[in-house]
Amino acid sequence: MDLKAHIRTIPDFPKPGILFYDISTLLAHAEAWRETVERLADAVRAYRPDVLAAIESRGFIFAAPVAYKLGIGFTMVRKVGKLPGAVVSHAYDLEYGSDTLQVAEGLVPAGSRVVLIDDLLATGGTAQASVQLLRKVGAEVAGAVFLIELMGLKGRARLDVPMTTLLGYE
Ligand code: 5GP
Repeated sequence: MDLKAHIRTIPDFPKPGILFYDISTLLAHAEAWRETVERLADAVRAYRPDVLAAIESRGFIFAAPVAYKLGIGFTMVRKVGKLPGAVVSHAYDLEYGSDTLQVAEGLVPAGSRVVLIDDLLATGGTAQASVQLLRKVGAEVAGAVFLIELMGLKGRARLDVPMTTLLGYE
């Protein structure tokens, strides 16, 4: 099945000049969604994870059925201030300013093999910051899996873990 046919592009979102790859149309199509989950699960399984880590917020959508299918759990990597209880934080630089990602303390056991999952890899800044955060809690990041890779932005070069993407756009 051609999954690209179920992803629409929206010009000038969220800002003028940005072409946004919208997965809403894929989620709304039962067959395309099923096929996406199957293919992502195959890609994730190849890295033999103990647990998944999902990047806020669309990463959660993919991580949940993949974790269920693989019979493992998943942990949310969230923007600052969203998680209750004790958290571990990692601040990282953006083009203008900085941002912070957090995970709940104690949910990813030290030494566990973690696979990171998100909908889309653009510059790779968010994913690489997530890798560093997971290493901070002692995880071994075995791989990263994305539905979409915007290849022109060269995020792949920024990530220092093995990665798999299902759909590439120039
Ligand atoms: P990066 O840090 O790689 O530059 O940006 C990736 C993050 O931004 C991902 O969490 C992804 O959800 C979001 N993102 C950036 N551009 C798009 C886009 O065009 N479509 C979607 N669905 N997400 C995007």
